[in-house]
Amino acid sequence: MDAWVVARPGPITSHPLERARLPVPAPGPGEVLVEVEACAVCRTDLHLAEGDLPPRRPRTVPGHEVVGRVAAAGPDTVRFAPGTRVGVAWLRSTCGRCRYCRRGMENLCPASTYTGWDADGGYAGYLTAPEDYVYPLPEDAPAEKLAPLLCAGIIGYRALLRCDLPAGGRLGIYGFGASAHLTAQIAIAQGATVHVLTRSAGARELAMTLGAASAGGAADSPPEPLDAAILFAPAGELVPVALAALDRGGTLAVAGIHLSDIPALDYRRHLFQERTLRSVTANTRADGRGYLELATAYPPRVATVAYPFDAADRALDDLAADRFEGAAVLVR
Ligand SMILES: [Zn+2]
Ligand SMILES: [Zn+2]
Repeated sequence: MDAWVVARPGPITSHPLERARLPVPAPGPGEVLVEVEACAVCRTDLHLAEGDLPPRRPRTVPGHEVVGRVAAAGPDTVRFAPGTRVGVAWLRSTCGRCRYCRRGMENLCPASTYTGWDADGGYAGYLTAPEDYVYPLPEDAPAEKLAPLLCAGIIGYRALLRCDLPAGGRLGIYGFGASAHLTAQIAIAQGATVHVLTRSAGARELAMTLGAASAGGAADSPPEPLDAAILFAPAGELVPVALAALDRGGTLAVAGIHLSDIPALDYRRHLFQERTLRSVTANTRADGRGYLELATAYPPRVATVAYPFDAADRALDDLAADRFEGAAVLVR
């Protein structure tokens, strides 16, 4: 099968990805083989390609927002008949036994593994995944519109849970890419007032068409204090900016897996009055199920740019340079 592998992690301009011909993988016990219809491009893929996240094995196929159909089921599988439409996401496995797994916090499992990092992902014709970590998907939606839900959607949903936005509250969203534009739509549907702060004029325009109350520059002050904020941009310098924009008792959740350095915080301006700074780490399967049920019942508008499978390197380059709004999706 055709695939892309991370051959030489480094700046995206140095072409870290390489085309490869790989054998179609065989599903092991408990695994399904999925034929890929579409795979969305996540900023984490860019961090893996550029080496911000160190490789865990050589020449791994990236991609963890995969829509496809079960092509074969391995031994000891029960969940999916061949032909079933499924999604494969970032969380690939957890131990199920550690203190975090037992407390419903499997996203913190020290033995967790990840699609496209610990195992080959969806920038390929096929991939295998443990069936317990695979999600059923609706038959009728285009693969291109479903793929971004699998990480951008799910992680944004967890970030929204983590920022403790009160009902009808004022939410600030810093950075407005694939995940943010999906998260904003849930918050608005639930009655929040959403203020978007981002450097991209095109993203500010998209935010307003999706129902944001305001859209300003990344370091601007929102028009009113915020009850909660989510930082989607991987820019540590925005942490104090967002903390300063919070009202008393507000919470800032940092959604990214990678963040540049955070400048010094000033206790009085950034944290006192019970403001809280939190991170968001991956997601649990319950988050995935919760979000996908919500997105199936109330389908969001998913802004996508389709790239042919052959153009994965160009899609990552365009993501690095902010050349599109919404999510890039590789379509086979
Ligand atoms: Zn565990
Ligand atoms: Zn992702």
